[in-house]
Amino acid sequence: MKFICYREFDDPEEPIHPGIIIGSKVLPLARVLTVSEAIHPQNLTIPDDVFELIGLLPVFAKIVKALSVTKILDQIWQEVGVTLAPPVPRPNRIFGIGRNYADHAKEMGNEAPIDEPIVFLKASSSVIASGNQIVIPSWAERVDFEGELAVVIGLAGKDIPREDAMKHVAGYTLFNDVTERNMQTRDIARSQPWFRSKSIDTFGPLGPALITADEIKDPSKLTLRTEVNGELRQEASVGDLVHPIDELISFLSRYFALEPGDVIATGTPAGIGPLKEGDVVTVSVPEIGQLTNPVAAEM
Ligand code: ZN
Repeated sequence: MKFICYREFDDPEEPIHPGIIIGSKVLPLARVLTVSEAIHPQNLTIPDDVFELIGLLPVFAKIVKALSVTKILDQIWQEVGVTLAPPVPRPNRIFGIGRNYADHAKEMGNEAPIDEPIVFLKASSSVIASGNQIVIPSWAERVDFEGELAVVIGLAGKDIPREDAMKHVAGYTLFNDVTERNMQTRDIARSQPWFRSKSIDTFGPLGPALITADEIKDPSKLTLRTEVNGELRQEASVGDLVHPIDELISFLSRYFALEPGDVIATGTPAGIGPLKEGDVVTVSVPEIGQLTNPVAAEM
């Protein structure tokens, strides 16, 4: 199931609705619920709390799968206005993973960390949807794109053994870990955290949709690409992660009880580079979709 959050009008004051994508159409999740009473667990409702809803995505994915054979979802479709919001509109936490593809670590003059992952926190206030502008601040020197696969946690857990880790995944989406590179380099030289250079407003494109874990049997088979103005800049197999997804979940859960809606940005492959005003940057995985953002300069 491809899960999205959307507004019916392009206005941040409008309420956010949960929906699913069927082919090229958007169906409000509320309509799925109304036609599935016979098959869904009693008292199933759509929680107002999006984190609670993300925890229930496996249940909704099963319902949608059962309904898809009946063709009823095509029949109940009616056109709604859709302005995408991020599939997790304001994650509680975005865990960034540094240098998690060996070829990217190398291009930055670093070794990939073998013993354990590098973790940094990225502010949720940086998150924007596919289609929204990445805004380069007037003082910025070098703003880089970093295409990444993002894992969204669906099931809470602490001290999760590696062999159980994938049960905690609600699904997968795409992330652009936009970074002010010169600031990051200076901060690293001063032994300061990566947080600031990665958390600037609009530096966290997330989306377009969350594809539920039942549809991605083996995420290591996914191919991640980033294009700038239609030109291929990054291409990698998720199987090349130095620290794979199950290890990241197990590792993080040792320190932080994971919660539904937590996002793990799994790291970026080689090919990162600067963005400038007027560019359009697209991160894609065929099974998930395209996260596309135009780049603007601060007025
Ligand atoms: Zn990154």
